[in-house]
Amino acid sequence: MMRKQLVLVTYLCAIASSGLLLAQSSKQNSGVQTQPFGSRDGRPVNVYTLTNSHRVEVRAMNYGGIILSIRVPDRKGQLADVVLGHEKMEGYIPNPPYFGAIVGRYANRIANGTFTLDGKTYTLPKNDGPNTLHGGLTRTFDKVVWDAEPLKGKTGVAFSYLSKDGEEGFPGNLKVKVTYTLTDSNELVIDYEATTDKSTPINVSQHSYFNLKGEGNGEILDHEILINADRFTPVDKTLIPTGELRPVKGTPFDFTTSTKIGARIDDNYEQLVLGHGYDHNWVLNRKDKDTGLVLAARVYEPTTGRVLEVSTTQPGVQFYTGNFLDGTITGKQGHVYKRRYGLCLETQHFPDSPNHPDFPSTILKPGEKFEQKTVFKFSAK
Ligand code: BGC
Repeated sequence: MMRKQLVLVTYLCAIASSGLLLAQSSKQNSGVQTQPFGSRDGRPVNVYTLTNSHRVEVRAMNYGGIILSIRVPDRKGQLADVVLGHEKMEGYIPNPPYFGAIVGRYANRIANGTFTLDGKTYTLPKNDGPNTLHGGLTRTFDKVVWDAEPLKGKTGVAFSYLSKDGEEGFPGNLKVKVTYTLTDSNELVIDYEATTDKSTPINVSQHSYFNLKGEGNGEILDHEILINADRFTPVDKTLIPTGELRPVKGTPFDFTTSTKIGARIDDNYEQLVLGHGYDHNWVLNRKDKDTGLVLAARVYEPTTGRVLEVSTTQPGVQFYTGNFLDGTITGKQGHVYKRRYGLCLETQHFPDSPNHPDFPSTILKPGEKFEQKTVFKFSAK
């Protein structure tokens, strides 16, 4: 009798613990995992791994909100990491190309590092010739440790940061939150939110460099891209918009039908010469006053069949073809990142908007809530 009971108890324990193991392993297969990754400014940095039921995996850290890797299948189900970057946190210090980072307070350029708001002139640090690029020099969104919280009931993580009044020359205490959520439809959804206690310009974006063949696997010139825009914002020689919204029709900037990126990139067209390739803002097609999600761009890589579709609530997208990568950075797996090895699709408000009253406004006022959404959807065909 005693022996029978003992066997039964052992049996029940085994069932219970295998159940526990199952629960644990399924938690690891799909969901959010947190692991220590280093420290910066005396604060811990963790890596958050988001995994969905299709084995798609996105890893991000709370230093700079940097997306470290995105693993997605090709048409044969073969997974590859499709973003440029580094294996360790230290690789991102410094991070001159802004690999994978959240950029702000003001993504892209502000001319001469200055703007006037409510009669007051503000001066920002210049870090790109005469201009300010991606928010300034030191305490910019890509270079600070964010607070992080894995989402409950969703595969995602929320990063929060308080950018103090006067930081990098900008007015107002700005509370920013950026949330990465991975869905079971292979979408990485990025939600941006912010509030302020003084009027301030804000333009936040995500600076991942994609190569759908897999990071380090050559140039992106053979990728095909469609950009849902009939106009773009031409720039001067320091890459500041001239103010013109130029029709793309009849120019190498017409991607209204899917076209190989390399087909015209080296044409002798003034705007391509100025940008050393594509490094411009396209004005997304949307109906008047429509602020919902619209398709911004669709990228297709013919050898692997991988597709990246970008949708956004933002009015513009910076299509940048990695023209300034020059082979001096060695990234993941010892891969050397050469010119045009990655492409960025930075959804955004137009560059230098604070100095262009005709552009959609980037001014956030106290009592208002800044809200934008961008979706990166991956598939294969
Ligand atoms: C800019 C490029 C710049 C790159 C890295 C892009 O958003 O438009 O000119 O080289 O970011 O900073």
